[in-house]
Amino acid sequence: MHSASMRTAKIALCFACVLCCAGRIPPCAAQTPAQSDKIVHTPIQKRIVIAASKVLDGTGRALRNVRIVIEGSRIVAVDTKRHSGSERIDYDLRGLTVLPGWIDSHVHITASYGSNGKNDGGGTPQEEAYRAASNAWFTLMAGFTTVQSVGSPADVPLRDAIAKGTLPGPRILTSVEWLMGRGEQTGTPDEIRAFVRKQKVAGADLIKIRASGGMTQGAMTLSQEQLNAACDEAKKQGLRTLVHAYRDAVRAATLTGCSQIEHGLGASDDDLKLMAARGTYFDPQAGLLLETYLRNKDKYVGTPYFPKTEEGFSVFEKILPMNHDLMRRASKITGLKIVFGTDSLAGAHGLNAEEFIDRVRDCGVDPMSAMVSANSLAAQALGMSNQIGTIAPGLEADIIALDGDPLKDITSVRRVVFVMKAGIVYKNETHRSTQ
Ligand SMILES: [Zn+2]
Repeated sequence: MHSASMRTAKIALCFACVLCCAGRIPPCAAQTPAQSDKIVHTPIQKRIVIAASKVLDGTGRALRNVRIVIEGSRIVAVDTKRHSGSERIDYDLRGLTVLPGWIDSHVHITASYGSNGKNDGGGTPQEEAYRAASNAWFTLMAGFTTVQSVGSPADVPLRDAIAKGTLPGPRILTSVEWLMGRGEQTGTPDEIRAFVRKQKVAGADLIKIRASGGMTQGAMTLSQEQLNAACDEAKKQGLRTLVHAYRDAVRAATLTGCSQIEHGLGASDDDLKLMAARGTYFDPQAGLLLETYLRNKDKYVGTPYFPKTEEGFSVFEKILPMNHDLMRRASKITGLKIVFGTDSLAGAHGLNAEEFIDRVRDCGVDPMSAMVSANSLAAQALGMSNQIGTIAPGLEADIIALDGDPLKDITSVRRVVFVMKAGIVYKNETHRSTQ
């Protein structure tokens, strides 16, 4: 477990988020995760049939009257032919909207309020570990079956425990440490290459790079040469690169060939078009992050990198419409691959889906595009489209159901009543919604 000060610095530097995760614990899952490492990911029942009247398959297609058949952790059939009515149905999700489990491409899963309730409050390693496990639980219950945490060394044991099936939570990918741009102090290109290799050895699934300052001070913090070294070495190591970038850093990271740009405030339409032409994924945040700061001023005020007074938080109120403008412009650029990432920090875990509402309500994003951004497109960005992000035979059985239709009412993303991950049901409140 890394130190509280390090964690706090990472939280604030990312200029990311918060809320007391006050959601209620749902009733016991119909099936519970296996208790032994030896039988993990083996659902109690070998073959499961889900009936659905409406499925958004994750690629932008809507299917009607579907039977999804699952064996073990995988989907083996998605059947839309006429059904006899006599077959066995294990989970009846008719009347709901069924989707692939969502993917959040940018979270900080271990970030939590400290023991004193503040952003920099710290705590014992045990307290921090339980808070991280709680974040994972709330994220899963909100319908997110995969998250990319960018990142902290503390992500690694949580990722591994969830992968073993010994803790419930979303599938986690982590960058471990970030490459923190600090001008010349960051290191020579060779040192930067060594840093990238070190993260791989530590178990990183990707490399996170901070190439510029924060929202309000967006100067580049890495030279072009340093950025080239980081993204080139990651590529050689078979790892993707996510680059925290504002203003000039957006274009520089795109030209360098880094995989994905985070945040992006200050990007011009030409920068966005360049990303589209280069096939660079883009992950801007429409609202949840700043809304979290604004809702929780008392917890952030006076903590490192945040305003010293609550009045000082008005800066975030000014930035919010700039984020809306960026999202609105980006969504109109043909071919730009916009993924879904919330930057969830303390207090935002489990509220990730609010970002869908911000995108659709405040930025005019098409609801189906918003869903795809967290399904097949996100899976493609992770290099996992053959495993997750779509409801199709051969893929992991990550399946959620909403009470409502997000294409008609985007607030239905708040009403996740069913969560299955890799064939195991973690949440089933369908009896409440279908009565
Ligand atoms: Zn972040």
